[in-house]
Amino acid sequence: MSRYLFAPLLLVAIALAPAIPAAPDDAKPADFVVVQKGTLPIIVSAPHGGRKKVPDVPERLGVGVAQFATVLDANTDLIAERFSVELEKLLNGKPWLVIARFERKYLDVNRPREQSYESDKAKPYYDAYHEPLEAACKAVKTKFGRGLLLDIHGQGEFRDSICRGTQNGKTVTLLKDRDGWAAITGKRSVLGHLQRSGYKILPSCEADQKAKEEPKFTGGHIVGTYGSHTGYAIDAIQLEFGTFLRDKEKDKYATTAKDLADAVALFHDEYLKDAKK
Ligand SMILES: [Zn+2]
Repeated sequence: MSRYLFAPLLLVAIALAPAIPAAPDDAKPADFVVVQKGTLPIIVSAPHGGRKKVPDVPERLGVGVAQFATVLDANTDLIAERFSVELEKLLNGKPWLVIARFERKYLDVNRPREQSYESDKAKPYYDAYHEPLEAACKAVKTKFGRGLLLDIHGQGEFRDSICRGTQNGKTVTLLKDRDGWAAITGKRSVLGHLQRSGYKILPSCEADQKAKEEPKFTGGHIVGTYGSHTGYAIDAIQLEFGTFLRDKEKDKYATTAKDLADAVALFHDEYLKDAKK
């Protein structure tokens, strides 16, 4: 190779260098999850709003996984964060937060571990989500005896609606036993307040309490693991927000978050205020 050829090649190599992503030497799995320790008996999880690529982890293929999905629940991370800010203004305390920054196509933490990822390199990210979430549930149980977990998701099927997912009442067993279905779908429930604020709730809060939840949105692994039918004593509701309610246009997502905070604060005063301190 003549030295006349070598010089342009070197220039090409230099020009290409910035296109190669910098090795995330110091990026730890915990950097891909937002965790906030709370002071209230309220926990919020948002597993599907992340947009970050996970280094060295291939995209999932989902062979043999039922209802396989890789699409992100756009702006659910923003709803969770804004909700926390709004709730703190109302209750003068912080909810617990666990929010994924990693994108769902690399791992899905709303699945049992064996269906969640396909590369062992994703394991620490799975743990970085579930360890603080489990710790939050245990801490709330210890401090308050019981609590509320909202698992925030997005769906595009009912664009102006919020779908309730409690595995048809199973993940809110304690709340149901103590205060009846009114605490889940009544006037003073979280969803009852939202419905009165003008949101469409599926199934409707006026419906017979035996009305089944939308089959695709009855609640996944997170509410199934930490709900009050288990030992955690945390009543867990999966909330699936329709596309229109998560829009960044005119800050729709922020209005949704504020209305959710209003609803949760009222629920707290009615049903959680007497939780032991
Ligand atoms: Zn989701």
